[in-house]
Amino acid sequence: MLYAELSRLNSQMLTMQRELEKKNAELERLAYYDTLTGLLNRRAILEKLDEWLRHTHRYHGRLAVAMLDIDHFKLVNDNYGHRVGDRVLADMAGLMRRSVRTTDSLGRYGGEEFLLILPNTDAAGAAIMAERVRAGIEGTPMHDADGCDFQASVSLGVAEYCDGDDEDMLVGRADSALYRAKDSGRNCVVVAACPPAGS
Ligand code: GH3
Ligand code: MG
Ligand code: MG
Repeated sequence: MLYAELSRLNSQMLTMQRELEKKNAELERLAYYDTLTGLLNRRAILEKLDEWLRHTHRYHGRLAVAMLDIDHFKLVNDNYGHRVGDRVLADMAGLMRRSVRTTDSLGRYGGEEFLLILPNTDAAGAAIMAERVRAGIEGTPMHDADGCDFQASVSLGVAEYCDGDDEDMLVGRADSALYRAKDSGRNCVVVAACPPAGS
């Protein structure tokens, strides 16, 4: 009798432990990943960048980042509705994931802005990757609620690690390059230069 009771309690505890493990895994997923796109969330991608910056600085390596922003995304929502807008975000995330290396990291930085981290890559290599992402998105039709095709595009700003960079400096240069891409008519890639020595 006592043995039967102990065995029942033991199996109950095992079930509870498994549920707890599942809940913990779900919490971890929510803490690091963006639910809409499945990419790293802002906090997680910035943590990754911090790690790569320290690594690059220590080993005198190369590192590049790209900031990507969907062009006229407000119009996508206005014309086709928020649900279609959400699907465009998820589809673009999938396209980005397929365009980069497995060692690269991708995160949703803000609403319709994404940060790409490209380890062991200089500005020229990052520009090629960014152009591949841009062209891939331009060449892939999106679908409205009735299944009809429409075109969306993205602009990217690229920056490579320069001596003495911290996170704000590197992301700031990519962001400024992105603004220049927007000013140049969108659907393009702009690469930032390193600041002049001593500045
Ligand atoms: P630009 O080419 O200058 O970037 O223009 P834009 O319209 O893309 O930029 P703006 O900053 O004016 O608008 C961004 C839009 O992105 C507005 C906001 O509602 C939409 N957005 C942000 N997050 C989400 C989201 O999770 N889902 C949907 N559907 N829309 C979102
Ligand atoms: Mg934006
Ligand atoms: Mg935008």
